[in-house]
Amino acid sequence: MAYKKIAMDHDKRIALVAHDNKKRDLIEWAEFNRVLLAHHKIFATGTTGELLEKKLGFKITKLQSGPLGGDQQIGAKIADSEVDFLIFFWDPLEPQPHDPDVKALLRMAVVWNIPVACNRSTADFMISSPLMDGDYDRLVPDYDGYRTRKITIDK
Ligand code: PGA
Repeated sequence: MAYKKIAMDHDKRIALVAHDNKKRDLIEWAEFNRVLLAHHKIFATGTTGELLEKKLGFKITKLQSGPLGGDQQIGAKIADSEVDFLIFFWDPLEPQPHDPDVKALLRMAVVWNIPVACNRSTADFMISSPLMDGDYDRLVPDYDGYRTRKITIDK
């Protein structure tokens, strides 16, 4: 398969999302990594963003609350190359009203090959990677073949 390169800047566009039982975890993680996060552009779902902004003291772009469309907004930003890094602490022990959106968001992260952490240890490894503070060319499958696939509509 052919690939295209999408450049990831030194300053990344990072989306942070946590389900309710995981918000404490994410806030602790973000406070610990405050200095590392500060020069990146941070997006978050509504409630996660409110809590983080208070604790971190810098501006976060807050989208809708997750169950009200926030996960889908982040997924759309990934597809539009406006978000290139996802920290998503989802709760494996609690059914969510927006389970399909959770799955869709994780799927977009894979479709567009962005780094994604679903737990704290992965987030630790990612944030401390030397790649964090440099430019990085993300390889994304060339979907032109898919876009131009032959569809037969005549009977
Ligand atoms: P919230 O959404 O930050 O608005 O609580 C998180 C989610 O459930 O996706």
